[in-house]
Amino acid sequence: MHCSEVRTAVSARVDGEEPPPGVTGAALDAHLRDCAACRDWGERVRRLKALAARLDLG
Ligand SMILES: [Zn+2]
Repeated sequence: MHCSEVRTAVSARVDGEEPPPGVTGAALDAHLRDCAACRDWGERVRRLKALAARLDLG
């Protein structure tokens, strides 16, 4: 898996959406285990989404 595919899938997962076709949760988790860059990226996405959710709630 390429990092760009992983990041698309991680973003979908954070949004509660279906992952892109052909991307399994197991493959995603395996990549995240091995790729610190995608782990950090995923963590930033989660934080941003949480912040955005709070702002939407006022
Ligand atoms: Zn990666």
